[in-house]
Amino acid sequence: MVIAGAGPVGMVAALLLARCGVPTVVLEEQPRRIAVGSRSICVQRDSLDILERAGVGAAVAESGVTWTRGRTYYREHQVAEITFPVLGDSAFPPFVNTPQSVVELLLEDRIAAEPLVEVRRGQRVVGVEQDADGVTVSTSDSEVLGSHLVGADGGHSAVRESLGLPFPGTSYSDKFLIADLRADLGLTVPERRFYFDPPWNPGRQVLLHPQPGGVWRIDWQVPHDFDLDAERAGDGLDRRIRAVVGHGDYEIIWLSVYRFHQRRVPAMRVGRVLLAGDAAHVMSPFGARGLNSGICDADNAAWKIALDRAGRAGPGLLASYDTERGAAAEENLRVTGETMRFLVPGTDADRAHRTDVLTRAVTDEHARDQIDSGRLAEPHHYPDSPLTTPVHPGAVPGAEPAAARRALPGRPAGVGHAAA
Ligand SMILES: Cc1cc2nc3c(=O)[nH]c(=O)nc-3n(C[C@H](O)[C@H](O)[C@H](O)COP(=O)(O)OP(=O)(O)OC[C@H]3O[C@@H](n4cnc5c(N)ncnc54)[C@H](O)[C@@H]3O)c2cc1C
Repeated sequence: MVIAGAGPVGMVAALLLARCGVPTVVLEEQPRRIAVGSRSICVQRDSLDILERAGVGAAVAESGVTWTRGRTYYREHQVAEITFPVLGDSAFPPFVNTPQSVVELLLEDRIAAEPLVEVRRGQRVVGVEQDADGVTVSTSDSEVLGSHLVGADGGHSAVRESLGLPFPGTSYSDKFLIADLRADLGLTVPERRFYFDPPWNPGRQVLLHPQPGGVWRIDWQVPHDFDLDAERAGDGLDRRIRAVVGHGDYEIIWLSVYRFHQRRVPAMRVGRVLLAGDAAHVMSPFGARGLNSGICDADNAAWKIALDRAGRAGPGLLASYDTERGAAAEENLRVTGETMRFLVPGTDADRAHRTDVLTRAVTDEHARDQIDSGRLAEPHHYPDSPLTTPVHPGAVPGAEPAAARRALPGRPAGVGHAAA
């Protein structure tokens, strides 16, 4: 069994397959792990549950910052405050902010202790062939045979390309400057803050997220012609940072400029090849659905591949990976797409809607529900999956007590959800 990519999704898939007794070879292009800018920080509870099965959930939770409060501002007004309920039977908090680099290191340590996983670094996947018996994965200098392949080789996936799959969707022209900074912001409890049109970034927005060790993720929407080198060369960057952190000391840990994309493959499975994580779908990070949904892809793929290898899967089991995770990708793209429409409106009508909602929200609490600064993911429900038993005709969701509703076929059992 082969996995392309030792990013977080590939590593989770390898560990979950090992848990099912399946040995994997993981082919990774990079000769060693490199920090590629500020990426994921917000790990959600259902991902922590999956990571725990991979052997690192508790360590990811312990090394992160737990936050339960979010505040939203429009200009100088606070227009919303939300506290996420701590619900359900899970041992984990609703969200934890742990940098992706830390999650990756924890996964890598766990893999080093797992004899069923072999990571081969410096192996760039360049081609894939398959027949009824298995897959042949070509790298720049070798060929690896396996029963199945998980393509977890990121947004520029070579596996996706080898399958001839397009990656349709949208790319936004707006840019985001993302900084990880160590600074004392004087807050007594860690919280997320979202500023729409603050006086110090007029017409645009700024997002703050706490991270462990007194580090803050600050995410500025910047003009499309923003030039980081020019800001660094003058005092623009310092002025920008000081508007958020004040006059105290700060230390820049990482700075990067991103554009965001909303794209997905038309099929997440072709024969014995399953695409997972960013190889299958990319989305704006507002809502923290990228890595979180990639971890769910890995979880969904692993047990199905294990049963297929053992000859215990029915004919439709592998196909259900695409049905289930394709629907999840669709939902995530719809939700993050709506958020981007609110954050970076592309039409006059969307711009007018945003201004209207934010202006009304200063005095009208009903308007506050329409502010969309990112909706955090809940586990995807699979009511329409071919694996889901039809609901008994008497089991009308609206007529049932809440506890029974949560246990409906296709829903995760016993997990309470937080709404953002
Ligand atoms: C600014 C920002 C903030 C984000 N915040 C969040 C957040 O809070 N929560 C969240 O859930 N998500 C977030 N995301 C998204 C998250 O970072 C990605 O979804 C996640 O990295 C996807 O993991 P992956 O393993 O699928 O891909 P990657 O992390 O891209 O890993 C792919 C791996 O494959 C390797 N590779 C590539 N090509 C080949 C090849 N041809 N052969 C072999 N190996 C190859 C790469 O070297 C890499 O190791 C954020 C993203 C950004 C940019």
